[in-house]
Formats: sequence, C-alpha cells, structure tokens
Amino acid sequence: MPTVTFQSVSKLFGDIFAVRDLDLGINDGEFVVFVGPSGCGKTTTLRMLAGLEGPSFGRILFDGTDVTMLPPGRRDVAMVFQSYALYPHMTVYKNLSFGPESRRERSAATDARIHEVARLLGLDGMLSRRPGELSGGQRQRVALGRAMVREPKVFLLDEPLSNLDASLRTQMRVEISDLQRRLGVTTVYVTHDQVEALTMGHRVAVFNKGRLLQVDTPRGLYKSPVDRFVATFIGSPRMNLAPSTFSRTNGSVAIQFLGTNAVLTDWQSRALERIGSADLEIGLRPQDIHWVQDAPTRCNHPLFGTVHTVAPTGAETFVTVDIQGRRIDTRFPSFSRIQIGDQVELAYDLADIYLFDSATGQNLVHVAGVLPPRPAPDSRPAIVVG
Ligand code: ATP
Repeated sequence: MPTVTFQSVSKLFGDIFAVRDLDLGINDGEFVVFVGPSGCGKTTTLRMLAGLEGPSFGRILFDGTDVTMLPPGRRDVAMVFQSYALYPHMTVYKNLSFGPESRRERSAATDARIHEVARLLGLDGMLSRRPGELSGGQRQRVALGRAMVREPKVFLLDEPLSNLDASLRTQMRVEISDLQRRLGVTTVYVTHDQVEALTMGHRVAVFNKGRLLQVDTPRGLYKSPVDRFVATFIGSPRMNLAPSTFSRTNGSVAIQFLGTNAVLTDWQSRALERIGSADLEIGLRPQDIHWVQDAPTRCNHPLFGTVHTVAPTGAETFVTVDIQGRRIDTRFPSFSRIQIGDQVELAYDLADIYLFDSATGQNLVHVAGVLPPRPAPDSRPAIVVG
C-alpha cells in the first residue's frame, strides 16, 4: 500500500481558496481522518486525492511518484460516498461485480473475491437481493464492498455514515475500523463529526477555512491542541473559555479568571514568559471541572457558581453552572443530585487548564514546546454520586 503526500497543495475556485498550502504525509496502511466544519475543504482535498479535481498549485505523490496529472482511473483508489451510489435495479452480487465486469475482468478469481468480500461484510446471505430490500447499514456495506472488490491501493471515504441512524453509525464505525485494520489499506476518511474522527483515525487532520491546522493522534489533538479552534472543536461538550488577566511577582505568574486567583505551575509560567502575551484566555474542559466532594485530591483550586441547567443522560449528567456571569459546562458522574439554582463549589487542577493568546488563539504551552509533566496518580478513589 502506498504512502500519500500532499506538497504545498492549493485549490482555487474562482478567487476563493478551498484548500490552501496543504502539506501532509500519510503513511503506508494508515487510517487518517479529515475533520472540520462545513466548507473547510475536506471533500475538495479528498477529491484531489482521487483525481476528480486538479490542484491549482502543488503536487500529490503516491509512494514518491507524482500522480498530480494522473486521471482517476489510473490512480488505483476507490471512493465510497455518503449517497452509497448503488445501482437500484441490480442485485447485491451485480453491484459488487459491476466494476470488474465493466473492465472485462470476470473470472473464477473475481467471483471468489466477491464472495470473500461479501463474507467479510456479512452480506453473503443477501447477494441476490436488490438495494431496495436492504437496510441503510447493509446498503452502506455493499458500497464498501464494491470498493473492496477492486483491491485499491488507497481507500477514500466521504462521510459514508451520515445517512445512518445513531446506533447503526456507532456499529459501522467499529466495523470499518476493524476492516481497515485487517486489510491494512491506506485509508482517508472525511467527516464533520469529531467523535467519529477520534474513534476511527490513527491520526486526525483538523481543517478550518481551507487550512490544515493540526494533524496528530486523537490523544495528541485532545491533550495538546495547537490553538483555540482545535481545542474547542475536539471534545464534547466543548472546552470552556474565559478571559483572564495575569500578574508577575517574584518570578511566579498569578492568573485571575472566573473570580478566582491561581499561581501558575513552573512549566505554565515558562510558556507564558516565552511568549510574553498581553491578553490571556483560559480553557478548561467540562470533564476537568469536578464537584468539590468528588474531586480527585490534585484538584485543589476552587470555582463558585449557581447551577443553571441539569441534563442527565444516564451514564453522566451535563450541568451548566453560572460563574461570574459566564455559562460553564461541566460533566458530573451518573445521576447527580444537583438541582437548578443550587450554589455549588467546584474544583479543578491547575495542570488541566489551557492558556491561549486571546488575540491569535494559539495554545501558549504548545507553541512554547513546553511538555507538561504527567499528573501523579490520584490517592482518592472517585465517588459516584447516586
Ligand atoms: P462539507 O462538510 O459541507 O461537505 P467540506 O469541508 O467538504 O464541506 P468542500 O466541499 O471541500 O468543504 O468546500 C470547500 C470550499 O470550496 C467551500 O467554500 C465550497 O463552497 C467551495 N467549493 C467546493 N466545490 C466547489 C466548486 N465546484 N465550485 C466552487 N466552489 C466550490
């Protein structure tokens, strides 16, 4: 399976950059997910990879060979679309064999491959049915199967699960990830759903306004986002943001936000010192804010507020707390006894806060290249509020 390389690739539609200065390398057998909001350039990038769009500038390489000018048919890529694009009047078998047949490749080996793909996808009992007689998930599997029968060098999937209901989507995510692992085919998958991206990708590429902002492992993106956009796009509910001021005394840096003061850790102070930013914004993920009674011992910084909304989901409860006129999202365990209007004391660990330059949005710790130390294991067991 080939490596895929984008070298300074841009795509202009009229005078609009759909994709701008894209440099990205995808490893042999890797599963990379492109994620970002609508219109950020994900599909255009995928279509350039497939050869359906030509880049305005730059080059695309497969295994070091320039394929920029190669037509789609000669790239050995297979693309699966959101719409399935199945032939409704043909049986599942005919849909799977259409590609090889149109290339006059019908043989016992092709027939064996179709049966093998059908078996892998759990379609072997449905080969004589037509798409209209299948569920959404089964249709999507036929679309995948059609791509697999081709044994392509690169798999391209454009929002293939968007038409499915939530539970089927979850199931198909696991199936596609499992299939990709077994086949080992270099795969690029486009979605606007960050949960899908994190659960499926070996690495995830986050796009916004035509630019690739960051490509990293799911953990890398979540723990060390380059900027405020990536930080708030990845993770659900979204990371909380609050403006902050800071002051320096005797070599240490104190921050003031959401009505509290805290002295930054050494490594945070170093990051701030190196950048010397004037306006600071603090980021704090909902799951890093705890009800004080249940907080791990390391979470020894308080926040005080009034409960605004309570939304139990079963496994956890989403609680919005009004702190200094700001709605702060939190996630509490299971069915919390908290009620709207309650005055609550919350706690966080200073090591869990993110420091953003409020003008540029850059994550100061990431930009400064400071590595936060790993947190010490908690000495207190987490308590589930029943
Ligand atoms: P979505 O998730 O909504 O599909 P996307 O991230 O895949 O969005 P693209 O489809 O790549 O985004 O579009 C990127 C930008 O390029 C958008 O501003 C879009 O309007 C524009 N664009 C895409 N295709 C064309 C085209 N054929 N002609 C003109 N503009 C286009």
